[in-house]
Amino acid sequence: MRYISTRGQAPALTFEEAMLTGLARDGGLYVPEVIPTLTSDQIAALHGKSYEETAFAVMRPFIGDTFSDDAFRAIIDRAYAGFSHGARAPLVQLAPGHFLLELFHGPTLAFKDFAMQMIGQMFQAALARRGDRVTIVGATSGDTGSAAIEAFRGLSNVDVFILYPHGRVSDVQRRQMTTPSESNVHALAVDGDFDDCQARLKDMFNDFEFRDSVKLAGVNSINWGRVLAQVVYYFSAAVSLGAPEREVSFTVPTGNFGDIFAGYIAKRMGLPIRDLVVATNQNDILDRCLKGQGYHKSSVHPSISPSMDIQVSSNFERALFDAYGRDGNAVGQLMAELGQGGFDVSQGAMQALQAIYRSGRASEEETSATITSARETMGELLCPHSAVGVKVAEEHRDATTPMVTLATAHPAKFPDAVEAATGLRPDLPPHMADLFDRPERFTRIDNDLGALKKHIKENLSA
Ligand SMILES: *Cc1c(COP(=O)(O)O)cnc(C)c1O
Repeated sequence: MRYISTRGQAPALTFEEAMLTGLARDGGLYVPEVIPTLTSDQIAALHGKSYEETAFAVMRPFIGDTFSDDAFRAIIDRAYAGFSHGARAPLVQLAPGHFLLELFHGPTLAFKDFAMQMIGQMFQAALARRGDRVTIVGATSGDTGSAAIEAFRGLSNVDVFILYPHGRVSDVQRRQMTTPSESNVHALAVDGDFDDCQARLKDMFNDFEFRDSVKLAGVNSINWGRVLAQVVYYFSAAVSLGAPEREVSFTVPTGNFGDIFAGYIAKRMGLPIRDLVVATNQNDILDRCLKGQGYHKSSVHPSISPSMDIQVSSNFERALFDAYGRDGNAVGQLMAELGQGGFDVSQGAMQALQAIYRSGRASEEETSATITSARETMGELLCPHSAVGVKVAEEHRDATTPMVTLATAHPAKFPDAVEAATGLRPDLPPHMADLFDRPERFTRIDNDLGALKKHIKENLSA
């Protein structure tokens, strides 16, 4: 199994190399050269299997000889041992034919834990074998950072630096990043928005001298290992609703397009997914693009679902790569245009995208109203991101195909929005009850590549 870059100019890598590096050296993202498939019988055999067993069956064909079967099973078991729900990704019914896939029972209460815990275990095993170390730098709109810190804190062969937009993450999100005391954890509050953080991260990867000198590794959702781990819960959910005999649709609250792209991979692997619905908040560049209006950046409008406040949706590049018939030059051209403000999608590529993805958006008022009504009519407390999903799902579902909306975070991660909509302030679970009593440690830093590189070089512990 080999991985190729969406821009066609970087060497093909093994799974291990693609995972440890993150971004390709031509600026592209790694994707599998061929997407493996599971037969109907193999999917049917997942009925009644544990989440861990499903994870092994779904991910094994992608990893080549990076890990032995036994080692890979052990990695999966360790990754999910810290989840507080036995099912890992339980499915609850919201309404007839509408289900919520609860992806917030991991250590930091957002779906990012599913992939980050796997990545943490895989990095640890691969680095120990290679006798190597890395510097992980991540950009976060809130949840990736805390999940990455949780997965890598205290590891001797890893430093983890997280760039988050100063003043634009929730208090719970910030404290999850600033309260771990391990010396290999570095929280950086950048004076800018999430797109600035993500742009500086890309700059660091494109600075080969810096990249090589600190052994830079990326764990943002551009890392293929993360997308792969997220494919698993599409299988576990669809199988429990009757796949492969029955089709299932999914609605996914989307920002960086990683989670929904994992759904596309599941579909390509043979899972009978009917609709894949992209749900955006008021930062609706993806919804507009999928409706044929091109991909044109404007400014980010902070919302009550901050983890989706994005204009540059990194993983969309992977979708474009397939929509353009895997033409790396065409993708490179689009990304160059994006640097100048935006691009239009060709007619053929647009048809390819629309054959796979549907889309919708929720305004701030609609998001809030959905939190209120889900509480009143369904007895479910939704986080604002999940509410965006539920609102858009309700507009896209039909009477015959079950719809699954991904619940991407625990309501207690966004207590202000939930309280404003319902009058109820959700409690943090017991393992985080003292979060607001722990001391914080972070560095405020300019949105400047030079300042960031200097800080990172001077603060390596490993
Ligand atoms: C990251 C995140 C999203 C968006 O996921 P993408 O993979 O970036 O599309 C949605 N909801 C929450 C709570 C998140 O943390």
